[in-house]
Amino acid sequence: MARVRPARRCSARRHCGLPCHAYAIAGGSVCRMHGGGSPAVRAAAKRRVEEGRVIARVNRVLLQEAERRAAERAAVSAVLGLPPDHPDLGWHWTLQQLTARRSR
Ligand SMILES: [Zn+2]
Repeated sequence: MARVRPARRCSARRHCGLPCHAYAIAGGSVCRMHGGGSPAVRAAAKRRVEEGRVIARVNRVLLQEAERRAAERAAVSAVLGLPPDHPDLGWHWTLQQLTARRSR
């Protein structure tokens, strides 16, 4: 489940000098009244939102890949009688060990 960050507040200041504090547009740092409605700012914000989605997707894939590799290593370690956290000696070494075991 994705962590949901609290909505960002506008970084601009009101005419009286106090911070605006209205909700910033998604992917942006200012509210609609402080430039968040302009096409260029909206386009940049939309691009940032999409980039964030892509980064989250790639992170998920990398995490799944790391979990899969850890499971494979644990299975190999169990077969070879090695501690589950033994240093990674590479697939070539692993295949040699497994093959040598079979011919014994
Ligand atoms: Zn504002």
